[in-house]
Amino acid sequence: MELNTLSEVCDAWDREHLWHPYTSTINPLPCYKVDSAHGVRLKLADGKELIDGMSSWWCVIHGYNHPYINAAAKAQIDKMSHVMFGGLTHEPAIELGRLLIEMASPSMHNVFYADSGSVAVEVAMKMAVQASVARSGSHKKTNFVTIRSGYHGDTWNAMSVCDPVTGMHGAFGPSLPVRYFAPAPITPFGGDWNDSDIEGLDRIIREHHNELAALILEPIVQGAGGMRFYHPQYLREARRLCDEYGLLLIFDEIATGFWRTGRCFAWEHAGVEPDIMCVGKGLTAGYLTSSAVLTTKEVADTISEGEAGVMMHGPTFMANPLACAIAIASMKLLRSQDMVSIVGNMETKIKEYIKPASNLPGVREVRVLGSIGVIEMESPVDLASFQRQCVERGIWVRPFGRNVYFMPPYVIGDDDLKYLISQTISIIAGEGQTKV
Ligand code: PMP
Repeated sequence: MELNTLSEVCDAWDREHLWHPYTSTINPLPCYKVDSAHGVRLKLADGKELIDGMSSWWCVIHGYNHPYINAAAKAQIDKMSHVMFGGLTHEPAIELGRLLIEMASPSMHNVFYADSGSVAVEVAMKMAVQASVARSGSHKKTNFVTIRSGYHGDTWNAMSVCDPVTGMHGAFGPSLPVRYFAPAPITPFGGDWNDSDIEGLDRIIREHHNELAALILEPIVQGAGGMRFYHPQYLREARRLCDEYGLLLIFDEIATGFWRTGRCFAWEHAGVEPDIMCVGKGLTAGYLTSSAVLTTKEVADTISEGEAGVMMHGPTFMANPLACAIAIASMKLLRSQDMVSIVGNMETKIKEYIKPASNLPGVREVRVLGSIGVIEMESPVDLASFQRQCVERGIWVRPFGRNVYFMPPYVIGDDDLKYLISQTISIIAGEGQTKV
């Protein structure tokens, strides 16, 4: 057991002063110090290497230290790292915008650059409110409906549309704006569609459409709210309801975008286009924080014709040229590869390697879609013990709640993928260690 070496890499100053995500200062969970990262491997300060199953919260889609993206970043740094986007523009913003419009759903026409996934959600919600106010001339139709088990980020409005229980923001209670929550879709992806699935959303929209600007949801995969994969028919029904009752439809593709579900964007599984879509994470391949909100010409023009006359948002780092140059490289890498086969092959392999988990005691369900594999447990995982065992075995998997999941970089080799999943399963099975 290498506990001493492992605890040595948990730096004392870090423990005392640095606040890690969702972490107590009194009793922080252990943190492992990373020295460098290449491809799918994280190299710890003690020299140990871990195969990364998380893509650093799903954004490092091409692996770490990618030579093509590194070169793009270095070239851009030597030209300019940043310039304000008010009154100025630049080639990286234009080229990235053109790529995104080509890759996104056909009705997308305007691109608004933002700082992070959560801020993209804020911007999308502001767009919906501004469009509604511009259209109706009143502030009556400015609330939102969403579905339970969703997750949209940690800023105020994003929190308000996260699941009130699983969305991690229960601590804020009534201080958050009050939204309408429809039941989460039950019919799984690949299952037989059941019409009753849409009844809850149908009722809320029918009864409250006069107050609602938009429906916001994560298409097909609900990520941090529960790792749930649902039926594409839900999105078709949602689109129909939004059209019938005059709501905009916002797709948060921050986690699902850029091939994570086996399609470039998850809306493609349903053939249903949103009015507004948010992208982030894989956009900049984990190099820098950046995101974008895309919308139709109709929404953009409605906002511009309204009383405000402009989109009321303009962050300092909007369209940061360095982030744009990196994102262009990330998009070009995706477009230069046969992503259908790459992610299709990952799906086949993950299904094969994850299968033994379904027979283990304590496992509720195993599911796979695209490059996402989930082992849902009956009860929450002991995170500190689980991660210590991962590190001892040379893998990096960070479960949340009951979900042990894999979202590896697309460059992961077959042997690494097999090792990552089999070692995780043996931790769950309690082989050679304490059970989680
Ligand atoms: N929306 C979704 C669907 C997400 O998964 C996340 C992040 N996990 C966010 C929004 C927030 O993104 P960020 O952490 O970049 O603010």
